[in-house]
Amino acid sequence: METNFTLSIIKPNAVRTGKTGPILSMINEAGFEISAMKMIRLTRSQAERFYAVHAGKPFYESLVDFMSSGPIVVMVLRKENAVEQYRLLMGQTDPQKAAPGTIRHSFGVSVQMNAVHGSDSVENAYRETSFFFSETERYP
Ligand code: UDP
Ligand code: MG
Repeated sequence: METNFTLSIIKPNAVRTGKTGPILSMINEAGFEISAMKMIRLTRSQAERFYAVHAGKPFYESLVDFMSSGPIVVMVLRKENAVEQYRLLMGQTDPQKAAPGTIRHSFGVSVQMNAVHGSDSVENAYRETSFFFSETERYP
């Protein structure tokens, strides 16, 4: 199985406030290749399916509302050890705990509105890139 790719999402709060360009710059400067990218808006039921792994948790309904509240930018990123490397670039889930120089430190405004998503395993990178992109889009 390929292990050099991950799924990234720029979340609605960051797109809405004009942070797409600065976040893409950080991704490029960190040495990731953006191999597929599009701006879409999730329906509520699509957001429910994407975050199904969190169903039942106290933040789930609110997270689904937030993620379907406006346009998002979804990307397939490529780099050696992409999953781990991109999680380092994102920083911790809570922007207040994220290290300086990370995307969430720079652009996150709360635990929920933490600017970006990144896959947490190679298996989930496969599942999540397949959720948003066709095979020909994912493997150009
Ligand atoms: N989240 C939230 N409240 C919490 C934990 C998580 O709103 O207490 C949101 C947050 O947007 C986070 C997403 O749910 O990015 C997924 O949570 P996860 O624990 O998978 O964090 P991540 O992998 O995004 O760092
Ligand atoms: Mg996660």
